[in-house]
Amino acid sequence: MIRAAAEPLPSLRGTVTAARDNAVVTTTAARFTVPALLGEALDGSARPCPVDPGELAELLAWFRAECEAAVARSPADTRPLRLPKGRVTDLLACERGALARLGDDAMGAARARGRITDLLVAQHATIGLTPDVRADVLDALGALGPDGAPVLGWLAGASEEEAAELWRHAEVVAACLAEGWGALDRAWWPRCQERATVVLAGGALVLSATFDLVVGGPPTDRPWVVVEVKSGQVSDRHRTDLLWYALVAALRHGRAPAWVATWTAADDGLVPLPVTLGTIEAAAHRGLAALDRLVGLAAGRAAGVTPHAGCGWCPELDRCEPGLARVAGLVDGPWPGDAAGLGES
Ligand code: SF4
Repeated sequence: MIRAAAEPLPSLRGTVTAARDNAVVTTTAARFTVPALLGEALDGSARPCPVDPGELAELLAWFRAECEAAVARSPADTRPLRLPKGRVTDLLACERGALARLGDDAMGAARARGRITDLLVAQHATIGLTPDVRADVLDALGALGPDGAPVLGWLAGASEEEAAELWRHAEVVAACLAEGWGALDRAWWPRCQERATVVLAGGALVLSATFDLVVGGPPTDRPWVVVEVKSGQVSDRHRTDLLWYALVAALRHGRAPAWVATWTAADDGLVPLPVTLGTIEAAAHRGLAALDRLVGLAAGRAAGVTPHAGCGWCPELDRCEPGLARVAGLVDGPWPGDAAGLGES
């Protein structure tokens, strides 16, 4: 039985307007600010429906068994199969596009924007930002060593306009963090870029996720909240990422976060999703659907081609007629209204 995932609380997003060109940020409703919304989640007053530990253990045991059965159908030399968050989404959107992305780790403007957004949030939540945003970003990238090199390399080869656009974005993010977030309460114990890996089926399957920001939970006595940082604007598409975080967190720690939330930098919007058993079950079914496709592809089945709103950002686009037709608007069907943010990281 599929339980319906709980609806997110209505209108729980910041009402901060950020003007990209001059980084003007106007806070219009204090009670919808990021600290106010996180504060409600962390003081327990907004906790809607705790997950029963016994029911959660039962659900996770079922999911592990289903994964083991699915992976057993894959050729041994293709294991371990890996399912990070992005691959689940890619596989369910278009198998051919998902295969094309397997080897695509090229840095581009969207990825660089996503990376520095993560870095700015991490720096704000831990040691704090200085008035010199560019220096903060370059310092953080340098401190990352090899992990920071791709963005620095992209910046070195970027055009003046591309670089200027990136720095404008950094200014907007920093302004949102200063004006909208303010200083985070140290009692929330903020942690950034926590990697969670879950090994299943005796090592034949690896699930993973990186939590951009985690507040509360152990070692505090507050509810556990996982925040996903996005460089673009609020979109319902982010909900499926949050489901995956809830599932991976529950598998990794044997307990569910109280909330998973998305913060979008371009509009300073925070959308919290309460985690229920139904939330996790929905994520489990979605993960199994993606795994079934991955196993089929690993066994040699031809990849399906299903054009969708993200074709414009697919590395296979130049060689894909259905995708080109979709991008050109020649394929029937409406273009989703929120397609503008699909290239974000
Ligand atoms: S361009 Fe679109 S349809 Fe073609 S492979 Fe990529 S995602 Fe699939």
